[in-house]
Amino acid sequence: METHLADFIRGTPEGNEAEAILRACVHCGFCTATCPTYQLLGDELDGPRGRIYLIKRVLEGETPTAITAQHLDRCPTCRACETTCPSGVRYARLADIGRAVVERQVPRSWHARLRRTGIRWLFTHPWRLRFILALLRPLRPLLPVRIAEKLPARQRLLLQPALPHPRQLLVLEGCVQSVATPVTNAALTRVLERLGCGTQSIAGCCGALAWHTGAQDQGRARMRGLITRVEDRLQAGAEAFVVTASGCAAMIGDYPDIFRHEPPWAERAQRVAAALRDPSELIAPAVEHWAGIGAGKRIAFHAPCTLQHALHHAAAVETILARAGYLLTPVPEAHLCCGSAGSYSLTQPEISEALRTRKLAALTSGAPMFIATANVGCELHLAARAAVPVCHWLELLEPANSLP
Ligand code: SF4
Ligand code: SF4
Repeated sequence: METHLADFIRGTPEGNEAEAILRACVHCGFCTATCPTYQLLGDELDGPRGRIYLIKRVLEGETPTAITAQHLDRCPTCRACETTCPSGVRYARLADIGRAVVERQVPRSWHARLRRTGIRWLFTHPWRLRFILALLRPLRPLLPVRIAEKLPARQRLLLQPALPHPRQLLVLEGCVQSVATPVTNAALTRVLERLGCGTQSIAGCCGALAWHTGAQDQGRARMRGLITRVEDRLQAGAEAFVVTASGCAAMIGDYPDIFRHEPPWAERAQRVAAALRDPSELIAPAVEHWAGIGAGKRIAFHAPCTLQHALHHAAAVETILARAGYLLTPVPEAHLCCGSAGSYSLTQPEISEALRTRKLAALTSGAPMFIATANVGCELHLAARAAVPVCHWLELLEPANSLP
């Protein structure tokens, strides 16, 4: 697409990057067919091609309006359009650049700012979330349904003594995950024990919530903190950095893009991203350890957008579960977002709800006993309304410890 950037961004690193992405788009519209918001709302400007066009106009100097911001806000950055695009357009990176410009030029209402600040204040500090959950859980019967359903059920965590292993892997605790679904990393620890690996926890936020709620500077600060902590442990001998929440993993995988114009962080971000491992990468070569454990139980796998469209590990997880003896039920429209998308369920509740309803109908159409997924946000979002238990897929490899 022919592009003439405005003076404020022409020749800058972000401008050059955005221009290259815009030029790659041939405006064919294939991507609209797999865009969840276009499918729901039917408006070209709520699809990838329309959003690309909006961003192009802003970068060419047109003043964005609240309507521009609304169309960009309605995108959960699921990246289904990237998977579909035959020209390799890096939509998510363009959206990051475009949103930062729009964020500076279109002031948000005080209640939108308060909501986004509240999301960052609560969800990126595990002790705050733990405290609020402890206060609210006993009041669940008195709370409005829309709040009560968001309170995750308390998980039973069986602590096991760590065994000494020469091979050590770093594991991200995660902000929400460490409080709401601690059995996920506990399952990973047991899985890695079987593979002869010990684990070391890495605390701290990956920066995704701040990054996606219009606080990119705060997000960058959190990313630098995590990069530093991971690098220190890698230099001390840890082999790799394992992340069980695909949303956090996708964010960390994007660090090299985010810091590419910021030496020396560019190299440091590259080192951390290179050490990143999805659990499936470690388990797949030794999947015979879990052969038959599924005993033919029917499960539906919900591949989070971050796992399938950003990290591209969804097929590997499904293969592991099938080889472990689970029967994977068919899931129509598996490419569509469930509506969780980080803080999206809190900032765009109506669209999020519609996406969840559609996703749950697809997931349960094959009558599964469980729904398995790979991201804490999707897990909690689906579990609030699902008629069957929802878990992280790693729990299916250690079912005696957490599943009913
Ligand atoms: S992003 Fe890709 S699929 Fe969508 S209009 Fe542009 S070239 Fe076509
Ligand atoms: S990221 Fe997802 S919701 Fe956003 S434009 Fe692309 S396909 Fe549509």
